[in-house]
Amino acid sequence: MKLTYRRQRVHPKHRFATSQWAVDEKVTLIVRLDHEGVVGLGEVVPSTLYGQTLESSEAALTSIAGLLGDDPFEIEPIVQRLLAAHNDQRAAIDGVDAALHDWCGKKLGVPVWRMLGLGRPRKRTTFTIGVAEPELIRVKVDEALAAGFDALKIKVGTADDEQTLTYIRERFDGPLFLDANQAWTPADAADHVLALARFRPTLIEQPLRAGDWRHMAELRRLGVAPIFADESCERPADVLRLHGCVDGVNIKFTKCGGIREALRMIALARALDMQIMLGCFVCSSLAIAPALTLASLVDYADLDGALLLAADPFEGITRDGGVISLADRSGLGVWPRGGD
Ligand SMILES: [Mg+2]
Repeated sequence: MKLTYRRQRVHPKHRFATSQWAVDEKVTLIVRLDHEGVVGLGEVVPSTLYGQTLESSEAALTSIAGLLGDDPFEIEPIVQRLLAAHNDQRAAIDGVDAALHDWCGKKLGVPVWRMLGLGRPRKRTTFTIGVAEPELIRVKVDEALAAGFDALKIKVGTADDEQTLTYIRERFDGPLFLDANQAWTPADAADHVLALARFRPTLIEQPLRAGDWRHMAELRRLGVAPIFADESCERPADVLRLHGCVDGVNIKFTKCGGIREALRMIALARALDMQIMLGCFVCSSLAIAPALTLASLVDYADLDGALLLAADPFEGITRDGGVISLADRSGLGVWPRGGD
């Protein structure tokens, strides 16, 4: 197996910001796995939130190239080796996990979702409106509704929250997900959550700092909306830790390390009767495809990372209003734009 990678630059159509950070340009890594004339592709989307940089991911990939062995069908033992060697570089492992699945699907001539025995990857996604000046938020909301999105995710945690949500609720009656990205403290979070009740949120995501997960149980008891953990929930063991504290978890492949680890998190969350959302960062469709592959297993998808781009370097995901689907092709079902 030969593993190579290259850098890829993508740009959101509008600057994308949360209460904690902003993105004008995102550099990801395209992983390419060559073996027996078949090419598997995956995307590494490093996040400094989780101790992953472009450089640390590249260093991990260089090391990983020597750990793969010679049989791509042994995905599980390979991923176990990578987790043992690079436990803190799960974005890199995610890219390799995706490339292995893509390679196996292509080699067998089946889509990865069929290879895994899952339902067809077709799911409503929320469209995310980042933190911005109120005038720009209004432009983004109007664009999203005109484009047919029928579930919105709003980044909250600023002084403009009520103004923004009032504007949205005057125009949109559908599902509204609110994500505070750790903006509040145990002392003020309950007041913020109660103030948001009149906007009828479908759920409220990560109201407190990642380490404050015990206090999230108090916010649950307010009964305003289900409380979801995102930054508090990186890996399978976090699902167990959060049981009883939150109603649901946001699983992202960059955090957990790809399809194999995400399947473990989904199984745990389901066994514990917790709800599940699949999330993403700003990225191209290549990084969305593995998550969309598992969409039939979860309650909610927030897989708009590539839809936020001015230009997506990959194609294969189609959108019908707010519902996205994967192309019925072997492998992950996405390919470089203009290629095959
Ligand atoms: Mg979030």
